[in-house]
Amino acid sequence: ALAAAVSGARGPGATADGKLVPLLANIGGPADVESALAHGAEGVGLFRTEFLFLDAATAPTLEAQQAVYREVLSAFGDKRVVVRTLDAGADKPLAFLPAGDEPNPALGERALRMMRHHPDMLDTQLRALAAASSGLPVDLWVMAPMVADGDDAGFFMDAARAAGLTGKAGVMIEIPAAALRARDFAQAVDFFSIGTNDLAQYAFAADRQIGALSRFQDPWQPAMLDLIASAATAANTAGTSCGVCGEAAADPALACVLVGLGVTSLSMSAPALPLVRAVLAAHTYSQCVRAAEAARRATSASGAREMARAALPGLRAVG
Ligand code: PEP
Ligand code: MG
Repeated sequence: ALAAAVSGARGPGATADGKLVPLLANIGGPADVESALAHGAEGVGLFRTEFLFLDAATAPTLEAQQAVYREVLSAFGDKRVVVRTLDAGADKPLAFLPAGDEPNPALGERALRMMRHHPDMLDTQLRALAAASSGLPVDLWVMAPMVADGDDAGFFMDAARAAGLTGKAGVMIEIPAAALRARDFAQAVDFFSIGTNDLAQYAFAADRQIGALSRFQDPWQPAMLDLIASAATAANTAGTSCGVCGEAAADPALACVLVGLGVTSLSMSAPALPLVRAVLAAHTYSQCVRAAEAARRATSASGAREMARAALPGLRAVG
């Protein structure tokens, strides 16, 4: 029965009792649009724009950016498309933005920090997005990567407004300090999106690119659940939405736990969408909450996974 539900799954993501949880796709450019739509994405929760420019020797012009953004935005009708501004540096080096001579690039002037150093480049990107969406029905949201605190958040919100963007502007929560004190700036932004890949890297002081440290990339770690709960609670209190767009969202049991922690949308690589949709639809919201509470009582990642699975009876149909 679940196999049929998975293959036939369409329509909005929701729990069994009808709590809507938009299920969105992570994309890197126009090449990923078809798969997103084919897998029933309700929009895009993370458009990694730096992927478009990995090989560019010079900074892309406003016109070049506008053309490729338009190609993506026009494919999604009136759906939500969340575009992340350039996340350059560390694991995503860009040739036209050479890194400084830093011993620890992941802790350096990367992502929004680099854009604060080159505000003209951020402004060009935001203006290209505003121009690209002009006249389209798309629900364009923009967000900044690697926001550490309210000062970073305020900088980005000002930049988005100055560039003429009128849709939602928000911040990624992927630095532990930002997750812990999300309440300080939840009211200053339109939304949060939690990046569990970097959040794990920084919470465990473990480089995400080092395979030997991969156990620290496990989003079931109770410390990760606590950080996510902190950000989601701050968002819920402020009446702000809080998505997850890191790899964690693609694990069906964890997707239920995230919803139980207060996360309001999930974005993942497109092929993961049907199973997450089916498993979410097999559980009520209160089952998700109980699974989240059970997982947070555990003292290890494997314990959290077991506790949550025990609290999610609909998973058994998956086998
Ligand atoms: C993340 O850090 O979880 C994230 C979604 O962004 P990226 O993997 O591109 O850094
Ligand atoms: Mg990240």
